[in-house]
Amino acid sequence: MKTVYLDNNATTKVAPEVFEAIKPYFMERYGNPSSMHSFGGNLAHDVARAREKLALLIGAEPQEIVFNSGGTESDATAIMSALNTMPQRREIVTTRVEHPAVINLCKYLARFKGYKVNWLSVDKKGLLDMDEVKAKISDQTAIVSVMWANNETGVIFPVTEIAEIANEHGALMHTDAVQAVGKIPIDLSSAGIHFLSLSGHKLHAVKGIGALYIKKGTRFVPFIMGGHQESNRRAGTENVPGIVALGVAAELARKHLTEKAQQMARLRDRLQEGLLAAIPDAHVNGDTEKRLPNTLNMGFEFVEGEAILMRMDEKGICASSGSACSSGSLEPSHVLRAMGVPFTAVHGSIRFSLSRYTTEEEIDFVLSEVPKIIAFLRSLSPFGRADFDRACVIQ
Ligand code: PLP
Repeated sequence: MKTVYLDNNATTKVAPEVFEAIKPYFMERYGNPSSMHSFGGNLAHDVARAREKLALLIGAEPQEIVFNSGGTESDATAIMSALNTMPQRREIVTTRVEHPAVINLCKYLARFKGYKVNWLSVDKKGLLDMDEVKAKISDQTAIVSVMWANNETGVIFPVTEIAEIANEHGALMHTDAVQAVGKIPIDLSSAGIHFLSLSGHKLHAVKGIGALYIKKGTRFVPFIMGGHQESNRRAGTENVPGIVALGVAAELARKHLTEKAQQMARLRDRLQEGLLAAIPDAHVNGDTEKRLPNTLNMGFEFVEGEAILMRMDEKGICASSGSACSSGSLEPSHVLRAMGVPFTAVHGSIRFSLSRYTTEEEIDFVLSEVPKIIAFLRSLSPFGRADFDRACVIQ
């Protein structure tokens, strides 16, 4: 059975060019870039080249890139550095729809370290209210952390505008751009953004590699202390294969950005229109304009997301549901709940996320299978359309 992989916001396949490029780094070029001998030391050039390629993708300078283990580490590093360099400021501003890497750190800082976290709400389309943003950022704010694009809905936030507001108050600006980098153009050269998080495995590099952009001149305290790697900004022997992978992946993403974004958006829209036409009581979660080109989050009323996922899995189709069941919990998605999506609809929500490798045939296959799956599940469900109102009244 062929796999139709529409879960690219969870992780992506390694690009063939990336795979080829990193092969020598396991058995031949396996040295330590910090070594005095040339066998290891020469690898520092490969790391430098990868840094240049990644910097080009986001309009940064190479020395503004610090390689690390991924998005989670980048988010924690940025937020902790801001708090450590501005100890007199005790407030954080962030959104209710951030990735757990930011949300859970902020909850910890509030609960155990006494910081005040000012949470920004979203409306039913998943968009921020700029008046609320202005009202919540103040001279007490150490850091504003707002994601560039949401991983569940693909909704894009106006982070450069928010950065201007943060700057007016002398606060630092961080953006988690893990889902945005490689999918939409990013140019940090004139943006007032101090920190940006990115992760290799979301853009066809390998898992366990990422980077934090740190704007030149930003005061910084490392999160991981130890050796002198990464110009004293991130200790630990460099993950050379990962770094090379991220460099090649960044180069590919930059080369294909416009063309592949259009291709993904066309296929995503075909999927969206096809599902809406074939399935009654279905809707799109999140704004459809300010949205990543690869993401479609749809709610199907009167049916369980997990049941849809299981049936899709039997057909070889991979996607995610509105509950964070991928992480082993059936908690409803905090993103959809923050958008005010009713509990019942959250549970029937599915995220389809495409990649530049997604084909028209795959989308057509999904369009031929998913309506049948939903119709079948609704026919079984105690929450099937006919009984739904009655069930709600009983509860
Ligand atoms: N931030 C966002 C928006 C994400 O989607 C993810 C991963 O799903 C992360 C952070 C965490 O990145 P990593 O898996 O590289 O730690």
